Amino acid sequence: MVRHGAFAYTWDLVGDPAAAARFADLGIDTVTLQAAYHSVRATTAWHPSHRVVHADHAAAYFRLRPERWRGLRPLAPTWGVDDEDRFGTASAALAAAGLRTEAWVVLTHSSVLGRSEPSLAVRNAYDEVFSYALCPAQPAVHDYALTIVQEICEQYDVPALVLEACGWLGFEHASQHEKTSGADLSACARDLLSICLCPACAASLALDVGELAADIRAVVDRELQEGTHAGAGLADAIGAERALEIYRHRRSVIGGLVREAGGLADGRDVLLMATDDPQVTGPDVGVELNGVEVAAFVLKCWDDEEAAISRMKAAGTRTGVPLVANVNALGERPSELPGLVARLVAAGASEVRYYHAGLASPARLAAIRAAVQEVS
Ligand SMILES: [Zn+2]
Repeated sequence: MVRHGAFAYTWDLVGDPAAAARFADLGIDTVTLQAAYHSVRATTAWHPSHRVVHADHAAAYFRLRPERWRGLRPLAPTWGVDDEDRFGTASAALAAAGLRTEAWVVLTHSSVLGRSEPSLAVRNAYDEVFSYALCPAQPAVHDYALTIVQEICEQYDVPALVLEACGWLGFEHASQHEKTSGADLSACARDLLSICLCPACAASLALDVGELAADIRAVVDRELQEGTHAGAGLADAIGAERALEIYRHRRSVIGGLVREAGGLADGRDVLLMATDDPQVTGPDVGVELNGVEVAAFVLKCWDDEEAAISRMKAAGTRTGVPLVANVNALGERPSELPGLVARLVAAGASEVRYYHAGLASPARLAAIRAAVQEVS
């Protein structure tokens, strides 16, 4: 039996008494519900009191208990329908409609916190701060991420948490104001710019970090200024030994965070949004799947169908942990969603999560409903 779930925002549900039944009508049994989330502008097609929600900073949607936080703490939302416990209200509505709620938790992506505490943000080889990305190697960020997990687990009877951005966000930042594509940076150069050399990372890397930073700058500058391609990958660009040391550091930080989150989760499942490639940074953390212990890996299958299928198959050979396919109902051809889902399940996915029950148009919701019906 394949489990089908869909992503949703709390503002899709809070203040709309019909929303949970509308989600249940998709045939899904699970909603992956926003509990901590970055800034976003989102449409809400059916809500009785709003059509466009602008979450203009990262926020926590669960109940914030001030006495539980030290140092970094998430902000409360000021948009949508006012409610001090949006996650609780929304998950209760879902439960009343017979739906299971998992807490969808974005951990290190917060521009508002990165701007207020730049010393805790990712820092590239040019000593430039990526303020949208908190560095998980920083002890204060580690504590902040685990306090989010703990506060959700102590306050809500949810069976699972889905961890997003449980590691480093790198150079990529899908903001609508990005003006970086014209530089034609290769994937390798982007990955070089994504290597965090903040004091916490520098202290953990058994490398000459000054020399590494200078070498990264030289390779990236050659590409930016002369068009000389940075290389096939990090090993090619900066040497295999240094690449492996960076991967060891990432595995140690991400693996530690996930392990501690699992301890706090007290029997709940911890699902990790991941990519089976330690060179990758981003919301789906790059980590060797056979090196991290979780209840399931959530693999993004938003790109080319053949690439997604082969990635799913490859992941199945790397780990015995269940695999969840994260599929995009907001893509260019929603009518092809049922076919894609059938192939992903045949390739090894035991569960599916559809992105996104609140953002999808009627045609896209119909595609989700069809996929749930056709693949069981
Ligand atoms: Zn760092």
